[in-house]
This record gives sequence, structure tokens and C-alpha cells, in this order.
Amino acid sequence: MEVTAKYELIGLMAYPIRHSLSPTMQNRALDKLGLPYCYMAFEVDNASFPDAIKGLRALKMRGSGVSMPNKQLAIQFMDELAPAAKLAGAINTIVNDNGYLKGYNTDGTGHIRAIKETGFDVKGKTMVLVGAGGAATAIGAQAAVEGFKEIKLFNRKDEFWEGAHAFAKRVNDNSDCRVTVCDLDDEKLFGDAIAGADVLTNATKVGMKPLHELSVIKDVSMLRPDLLVSECVYNPHITKLLEQAQAAGCKTVDGYGMLLWQGYEQFKLWTGEDFPIDYIREAMG
Ligand code: NAD
Repeated sequence: MEVTAKYELIGLMAYPIRHSLSPTMQNRALDKLGLPYCYMAFEVDNASFPDAIKGLRALKMRGSGVSMPNKQLAIQFMDELAPAAKLAGAINTIVNDNGYLKGYNTDGTGHIRAIKETGFDVKGKTMVLVGAGGAATAIGAQAAVEGFKEIKLFNRKDEFWEGAHAFAKRVNDNSDCRVTVCDLDDEKLFGDAIAGADVLTNATKVGMKPLHELSVIKDVSMLRPDLLVSECVYNPHITKLLEQAQAAGCKTVDGYGMLLWQGYEQFKLWTGEDFPIDYIREAMG
């Protein structure tokens, strides 16, 4: 890549951020298509976020990715929010059109896109969504926007419990999708919900190191072949939950698919071009 004066900057504002795969993924895609943008990660936390937004405008950056701890804070700096970003109460993408900032949440669009890529029709379906953090609310919001009929959101009663209820109220007040919040420790309720669901999605940290030997499913008889099981965790690539689901004959969607598709959606928003997903899938291993 030869960077000339025509190049524009796309940022990523988060802290910590030096572990992120997004700069490698986005720059490889930009380079492959010969597009005049550079994607750079910046260590930005809540305290420096307001100045970073001023900088984004002053430098006429094309936009930015937003990750923790800024996803919720960022919404108040946007001139407009995409519908699912409004429902989620968080964004991971800023697009700067001549100083007008629009916020999107491609974690949700990416995950639902990965599910749809299997040929699954999401309209009128029921999801059991495990988790109530950033990934879960983004996925739940997009699922509601795309026509899921019902979401049963299971979480343990931790610091995310209150936020889960606030999220459910936002979706119930503003969409046709019904969200109910349930206690993940109630195994009977969890099993009954899965029995009536089309999709089971894990959006917790369970399955990711150091929880990589764990799964949200303790009783594998809850899994059946016509259940689609999707995962947010991408490291490891095949989590314990996905191993259980594959053994039970379920169709599965891994967290790496979500990572690629959320990157695809961001790339499209910033450049207007299609992200070379097969090339990147291969290049990133
Ligand atoms: P978060 O901190 O906002 O939420 C964490 C969630 O995990 C909460 O619901 C919490 O209750 C739950 N949790 C944590 N430990 C638990 C345990 N021991 N048992 C049960 N529940 C537990 O995190 P997040 O940003 O929502 O990320 C969640 C997962 O999704 C992470 O593994 C993250 O790497 C992954 N993720 C993947 C992508 C992708 O593109 N594939 C994007 C975003 C997040």
C-alpha cells in the first residue's frame, strides 16, 4: 500500500485496543480493492472520547469503529442513529458525511447476516439469546428490526441484569418483537425456552478463554437437529457449545462469521464497496 495525499483516515476508538483484529482485516480489504483509506486504532477511553470526536470532525475522518468502553457513551455524540443502534443503546460504527455523524451497530447486523448466510429465514422466528452485554443487545436489537417474533433473553443475575430489563423495554415499546428476560440459573425455564425456539445464540463470554472449557448448555439433551445454534465467541474458533451443537446435529454459525460480517458491514458503510469476504477469510486464517 502506497499512502498518498488522497488517502483518508478511518479510526477505531477503544481502550484497550492493541489486541484487535479489525485494523488488519480492514486494511487488508482496503489494500486488496486499492481504496484510498487507512484504518488506524487509537487508544480512546470515556474521558478522551469527546475530544476524539472533535478530532474526527476536525480531521474530516471518514468515520471510526467504536469499541469498549465507548459503545454506549458514543450515542450521545451522534446526529442520527440507525434503528437497531437506537434499540441497542450502543454503536460500534460512526460514519462522517461532511460533519454529520451517523451511528450504526454492525455487531448485530453482522451476526444476523451470518445466520441468514446459512439460508435461514429469520421472519417470525423465536430466539433464545444468552447474554445481556454489548454483543447480546446488538444482536437482539437487529433480530427485532429484521422480524424475529420473540426473543427470550437469558442472563445470570449479575451487573448486566438491570440493563437487560431496560433493553427489553426499549424493544417491546418500539418494535413488534416481544422480549422477555429470564434467569439463566433456572435450568427448567431455559430448557423449555430452547424447546420452543428456532435459534439459540450465545452472546456471553462463556466459551472464550479463560472460560473456554465451559458452555451455557449443561444438559445436551436440550439440543435438537432443527435448532440453529449461533455463537459470538471467535477465540477459540469452535467453542464447547458449537462442539455440543454439531454432535447433536444442529446447524451452527461460529463467532468468526460474525466478526467477518460485522467488518463487511462497516467496510460497506465507509467505502460503499463490498468487503472481499472470501479473500479476508482466507488471509486471516
Ligand atoms: P460484555 O462484557 O458486554 O457482556 C458479557 C456477558 O457475558 C454478560 O451477559 C455477562 O452476564 C455474561 N457472562 C460473563 N461471564 C459469565 C459466566 N461465567 N456465566 C454466564 N454469563 C457470563 O461483553 P460483550 O462485548 O457483549 O462480548 C460477549 C462475547 O461476545 C465476548 O466473548 C466477545 O469476544 C464476543 N464478541 C464477538 C464479536 C464478534 O464479532 N464475533 C463481537 C462482539 C463481541
